[in-house]
Amino acid sequence: MPMPLTLDTPNRPYVGRFAPSPSGALHFGSLIAALGSYLRARSLGGQWLIRIEDIDPPREVKGAADDILRALEAYGLEWDGAVLYQSQRTEAYQSHIDLLLAQDKAYFCQCSRKLIQSMGGIYDGRCHRASQAKAANVVSSGAVRIVNTAQVQEFDDNLMGHICVDTPFAAEDFIIKRSDGLYAYQLAVVLDDAYQGITEVVRGCDLIEASCRQLSLYQTFGLTAPEWLHLPLACLTPGFKLSKQNHAQAIDKQHPQASLNAALAFLGQRRVETCGSVAQMLKQAVAQFQLSVIPKQAEILIEP
Ligand code: GLU
Repeated sequence: MPMPLTLDTPNRPYVGRFAPSPSGALHFGSLIAALGSYLRARSLGGQWLIRIEDIDPPREVKGAADDILRALEAYGLEWDGAVLYQSQRTEAYQSHIDLLLAQDKAYFCQCSRKLIQSMGGIYDGRCHRASQAKAANVVSSGAVRIVNTAQVQEFDDNLMGHICVDTPFAAEDFIIKRSDGLYAYQLAVVLDDAYQGITEVVRGCDLIEASCRQLSLYQTFGLTAPEWLHLPLACLTPGFKLSKQNHAQAIDKQHPQASLNAALAFLGQRRVETCGSVAQMLKQAVAQFQLSVIPKQAEILIEP
């Protein structure tokens, strides 16, 4: 079994981030991730960066990226520096893939979803074995999979504690570039968090298991990994987070006070006075912020 990673970020000034996909407007669920990561960063005197994860054009909604930025502004969630757009980073993604392919640390795969289902849903590495054996069925196009030698299976989350995923999931050679030519989230998120010098990733619990894959990629690339802090997800029914896909309502940009206090309460924090500006509200929220009172639950049910 692979050794657990020791996350070591000696004396790096704190840099946090919020990384929305522009697939719809900011809703209460994404406000929690934005506010949680903002409060954590600001309460530690750190920077808070924004990255728009716009590398999946079929899922993108026109105007959503700007709309998200305007909503953050309306809520007083001011970020540092320029916004990074993943669509501007594709050369970096491709050059890292090319390097892995050249070093036999990645390989092409054309296995269908149906075939992978017949393997039990976890890819069994057959295209890698074929390429090593220089077999006649080696393919040089299709999806690109990582040769997952790191197989990170566990890590310590700064809120949820020790996290351990199933061995087959941890060991899978997962996709880093899709067969439709789009870069996979796992690859882009790691290269960008490293590029932006993120020291702690704060986001929703839906991505907690993905952190193991991301840690495997940090090891493969020899990059310093961030720490992790996964927040509870707002769910309408168990197992279904509020999301753009299930048409969660956009947060109200005209009257941010009520939603801000609802998001603070969701995170177990004390409410703040609503008589001043959003900037004053956030200042108070930062001063009162306590990590230890955030519920250590993957999901919290909310009223529709
Ligand atoms: N872009 C992802 C989303 O909107 C979040 C990615 C991350 O925080 O790592 O769900």
